Amino acid sequence: GRPYSAGIPGIQERTLVAVKPDGVQRRLIGDVIKRFERRGFKLVGMKLLKANEGILAEHYHELRRKPFYPALIHYMTSGPVVAMVWEGYNVVKTSRTMVGDTDSAEAKPGTIRGDFSIHISRNIVHASDSVETAQREINLWFHSSELVDWDCCDYCNTYQL
Ligand code: GDP
Ligand code: MG
Repeated sequence: GRPYSAGIPGIQERTLVAVKPDGVQRRLIGDVIKRFERRGFKLVGMKLLKANEGILAEHYHELRRKPFYPALIHYMTSGPVVAMVWEGYNVVKTSRTMVGDTDSAEAKPGTIRGDFSIHISRNIVHASDSVETAQREINLWFHSSELVDWDCCDYCNTYQL
């Protein structure tokens, strides 16, 4: 069970965040994780893997007819990614804010993309765009046995418990 989080609305929301191959190559894994940890979110799943075309075709199925789709798949299979599941209040929306605009050229300073990247084709991170998408993406990238239920011992400093 989850004694601390039980009964507090919204704080068990989860999202999929991934450090893309450019972020891994550039040794930015730690910088990305650090931002989510410092914000107060709880890491409940993480793995380093080379994503195959099958998982990426499902992950990006809405973009399959876009002109940049072949380049996107090539980019995403060019090296390992770090897939993570983060949990906490409003985590889907807050993660998107922390990640910044899809186009790195438009991403605000202070966001991950705005601080570490300059072009839309190499934008460092992925974060789910809605609660429904997050559920679908978490199920795609993780087996339920890979997600860890645990209690942050200092959650009283994150939420009014
Ligand atoms: P996201 O949710 O902010 O990652 O953006 P989308 O879901 O719209 O697109 C998924 C990913 O496809 C983006 O993060 C980029 O890696 C890539 N992408 C989107 N639009 C473009 C584009 O116009 N050109 C290129 N090269 N890549 C793009
Ligand atoms: Mg998206």
